[in-house]
Amino acid sequence: MRYFSTNDRRHSVSLQEAVIKGLAPDQGLYMPERMPLLAPERIARMRDMSFREIGYEVIGALFSEDLSVAQITDLVDHTLQFDAPIVQIEDHIFSLELFHGPTLAFKDFGARFCSKLMSLLLDNQKVRVLVATSGDTGSAVANGFFGIDGVEVVILYPSGKVSELQEKQFTTLGGNVVALEVDGVFDDCQRMVKEAFLDPELQQSMLLTSANSINIARWIPQCLYYFYAVSRLPQDHGKVVFSVPSGNFGNIAAGMLAERMGLPIHTFVAATNVNKVVPDYLGGSPFTPKSSIQTISNSMDVGNPSNFYRLLALYDGDEKVLREKVKGCYYTDEETRKAMVAVKHSTGYVMDPHGAVAYLGLKDFLASQSERFDGIFLETAHPGKFRDVVEATLGDKINLPSRLLEFMKGEKKTIPLANDYTKFKEFLIRTH
Ligand SMILES: *Cc1c(COP(=O)(O)O)cnc(C)c1O
Repeated sequence: MRYFSTNDRRHSVSLQEAVIKGLAPDQGLYMPERMPLLAPERIARMRDMSFREIGYEVIGALFSEDLSVAQITDLVDHTLQFDAPIVQIEDHIFSLELFHGPTLAFKDFGARFCSKLMSLLLDNQKVRVLVATSGDTGSAVANGFFGIDGVEVVILYPSGKVSELQEKQFTTLGGNVVALEVDGVFDDCQRMVKEAFLDPELQQSMLLTSANSINIARWIPQCLYYFYAVSRLPQDHGKVVFSVPSGNFGNIAAGMLAERMGLPIHTFVAATNVNKVVPDYLGGSPFTPKSSIQTISNSMDVGNPSNFYRLLALYDGDEKVLREKVKGCYYTDEETRKAMVAVKHSTGYVMDPHGAVAYLGLKDFLASQSERFDGIFLETAHPGKFRDVVEATLGDKINLPSRLLEFMKGEKKTIPLANDYTKFKEFLIRTH
């Protein structure tokens, strides 16, 4: 399979090159040139398959030209080490719990797949993975890559803008994981990383790659849990709608990939906090990136979503179809908090702020429809990851899973970095 750049369909590369480059030289995002279609019978059979068996099927359809059966099995087994159950919380409303991995957020799926695929494709070259994070990417990538030979991870994050728990998960590992604490916001971190990838001088002296959701190796595996979730709905379910709490829009774009591969999803709800450039776009405005605004769902505080052009590419650039298929909505922190309280009181279910944004999007969508739908919202992080906000909102103590408490014992080690690309470049050269 070849992978083309969203900026120029004529520029296409191999799987190996797409994974190792991360971003196309013209700054476009790589996309598979074909989306293999799974027949309805094959999808129906997933009902009787395990999560891993579904993984072999879907990853096989996408990668069988480039990887052996043994490699595909290895990759899927390494990635799907934990479950992603759907939990019914109200009539026709299910939470897809994506937080049962080592760092308690859905990014564990992409990070584990990405590290394994890179190690399969790299054969003995040394590579540096650059990651900009607004919180959860850093912890997932650091943990997914920790201890992998030949790979050094350099994480850039906005100082003071991620929770202590998040920070501990990527600043305490040491070893092949280095954390740079940037005096700026997430978008500054992302800009510096993008600039490094396009810097010819750096490109000549070292092999740099990305493990942000711009990388297909992070992005593609996220489609797996959409297949799995649909396979676990009650057999007589109505039309299917997924509501996805979105920041960089990689997660929802992976759901759309599943849909393009034949998974019967009627509608996507793109739910955001007040960083709402995509909901604005879906409502008819031009796409206009802005600076990000800080909220309680901080992993979605993104003003210039890096996967936006993937959304368009998934529907062959047809804005009308995209706006049909994907409904945008956004919520304030106050609305998010109210939803967390209301759901806790009526059902006992505790949502984290990101899941709560998606829950609200799903509720509003269902209220606007007269037909029968079954809706799944993505609960992207364990509420314990955002303990301060959740406890203050619900007035209850949250029990942290023990694997999260382990991180809190570690000592934070970071290197301060000015919000200045030349300083970042100097660091990369000096430490090479
Ligand atoms: C990263 C993240 C999101 C946003 O996902 P995107 O793929 O960037 O849209 C939502 N919730 C949580 C908890 C996250 O960590």
